[in-house]
Amino acid sequence: MTKQNVVVSDVKCGINDMISVVPKGSLFPSTGQKPPKAPDGYVSISRNKFLKKLETGGGARINPWVESMRASSPTHIKSNPSLSSTVHQEDSWILDHPSALNMFEQIMSASKGKQIVMFLDYDGTLSPIVDDPDRAFMSRAMRAAVKAVARYFPTAIVSGRCRDKVYSFVRLAELYYAGSHGMDIKGPAKGPRYSKGNEPVLFQPASEFLPMIDEVYKALVEKIKSIPGAKVEHNRFCVSVHFRCVDEKKWGSLAEQVRAVLKEYPKLRLSQGRKVLEIRPTIKWDKGRALEFLLESLGYANCSNVLPVYIGDDRTDEDAFKVLRDKGLGFGILVSKIPKDTNASYSLQEPSEVMLFLHRLVEWQRPSRGRPRESKIYNTST
Ligand SMILES: [Mg+2]
Repeated sequence: MTKQNVVVSDVKCGINDMISVVPKGSLFPSTGQKPPKAPDGYVSISRNKFLKKLETGGGARINPWVESMRASSPTHIKSNPSLSSTVHQEDSWILDHPSALNMFEQIMSASKGKQIVMFLDYDGTLSPIVDDPDRAFMSRAMRAAVKAVARYFPTAIVSGRCRDKVYSFVRLAELYYAGSHGMDIKGPAKGPRYSKGNEPVLFQPASEFLPMIDEVYKALVEKIKSIPGAKVEHNRFCVSVHFRCVDEKKWGSLAEQVRAVLKEYPKLRLSQGRKVLEIRPTIKWDKGRALEFLLESLGYANCSNVLPVYIGDDRTDEDAFKVLRDKGLGFGILVSKIPKDTNASYSLQEPSEVMLFLHRLVEWQRPSRGRPRESKIYNTST
């Protein structure tokens, strides 16, 4: 498989030391250990090497990063010719990651006696990727599908977006929301898991970074205002630099400007997604840790009685897919039209297929069909 992405790695660790912060000035200060291997298909390099590659003094040094920006932002099959060069490769990939719609019965049979818990990414999963990230609205039909699913299963939205922003898109108070790549988690404001007098789950492992994130956001807005189409989004505990509307000829300039800001903040790290650069604290926390935290909060630390299903489309969702795969727990479903290296078990091509999958889940669970429930309706007491 082709290398698709660049990840500036930090040290991974277990859930027990999940919120420890890397001391100032070094990513690997105490043990000197090397960064872990990134998920297959992503290039993992140290932060220092990464920044060195971007040192000023020549466009040639920016080129590798621009290449990885291209590779991590495929919009159609032609943009990744090495993966689409033969039909065989695509057939092979779909055999390894079959459609979750075609495998629906098998997925459901695995849930026998277990509580299904749904985790849904937002952009590219529930909503289409659009030029203006502020207009990435989900359809009414998709909202209705998510609402229906949440009637039967605990459901969380896990997004890189600011929690308030993603809530403004989804507008379903009965869900869990994990914004800022899982660094800002809040439980339902209403619904079966909520009752007056009980504080909803709230977890913010990167609170101390808020002033720094504000500072970096302002610096980035100033730096990239000369690049047409670039957009900086403040996601509370992280910052996204969107280049969906930036001419590819300007990607080198954009990389250079982001580098200039980032080199002043050794406690922040950078990764790439689909047409977006993500800047966030170097804490050991990601969507995978958020998934584990939510399962524990729901009382499913015991892995034998739960079947988490995580649907997402982006590199950052791989952290959650990997947790599920490593634990042999539930299923990851990658939303993608093209073959990608992934830790997900199944695939769906686009948000419309995600909606179909959610409909089938509801139909399968709905008692009115006369089918005996094979999964427990989750506990309605809080
Ligand atoms: Mg996404």
